[in-house]
Amino acid sequence: MATFGNLSDRLAETFKNLRTKGKLSAADVDGTVREIRRALLEADVALEVVKDFTGKVRERALGDEVNKALNPAQQVVQIVNEELVQILGGEQRRLEFAKKPPTIIMLAGLQGAGKTTLAGKLAKWLAKDGHTPILVAADLQRPNAVTQLEVVGGQAGVPVYAPEPGNGVGDPVRVARDGVKFAQQKLHDVVIVDTAGRLGVDADMMKQAADIRAAIDPDEVLFVIDAMIGQDAVSTARAFQAGVDFTGVVLTKLDGDARGGAALSIASLTGRPIMFASTGESLDDFEPFHPDRMASRILD
Ligand code: GDP
Repeated sequence: MATFGNLSDRLAETFKNLRTKGKLSAADVDGTVREIRRALLEADVALEVVKDFTGKVRERALGDEVNKALNPAQQVVQIVNEELVQILGGEQRRLEFAKKPPTIIMLAGLQGAGKTTLAGKLAKWLAKDGHTPILVAADLQRPNAVTQLEVVGGQAGVPVYAPEPGNGVGDPVRVARDGVKFAQQKLHDVVIVDTAGRLGVDADMMKQAADIRAAIDPDEVLFVIDAMIGQDAVSTARAFQAGVDFTGVVLTKLDGDARGGAALSIASLTGRPIMFASTGESLDDFEPFHPDRMASRILD
């Protein structure tokens, strides 16, 4: 994955040096942990996550499991892998479907994060799996947001509920509520509600998202975040957690070549799992997020 290419290369180099050693001394372990720390910080992983991670790796690497291992270097790589999986959220978290349909999924995030695109990706993926999703256009802020959702819905082959013209006209809370009602009447089993973002964190946007959340009581609130925004990812995630709260995270633009480490910190810092990854502009560039697979890719 392009976003983590540098981090991958740096870690591979660190482990290559380690592999030339037989038994590991405390100095070898410290040197390795220092290099891992530097690689993670350079990739923009948040400092408190790096500290926690390297502390755990160091403690385990100095312990018996490594000392007694036939191949100590390999054992250290294994520990780094396991701890990386933990940072990324541990077990994969799947969507929670409501016992009584429809399952309501609300999308929140900054403008440009990739929410509208994601709505189409998620709907297409769900439809392929036998679900009958509908999209609701409650982003009335951005010019063309409603039209864009209609285009994306068309590409995904799913209907779009969009009664208002958008661009500052109409009441997004009402649209969200009516969209959910419409989905119930038409027996759609999943409703995906797209909401408005702003270019930066903004009190009005947060209030609108919180009002929509209160009005439709979603089963999932997915916070969509562009992995390319670097260190701002962490403060943005914290602002959304405080303002709207969310049940899961979607990382977008993982195909980009920016350092994506900040995004990797979000699960650990917010306690909310990364559930999906978006890796391109096409509706098929989308996959459920598996912490273990991502850790293996980074350490490949
Ligand atoms: P919204 O404002 O949050 O609804 O964001 P959009 O869905 O309109 O996406 C903003 C821009 O990012 C659009 O040009 C999308 O095509 C693009 N985009 C969305 N997801 C991805 C992705 O995973 N990778 C890349 N390269 N571009 C993406």
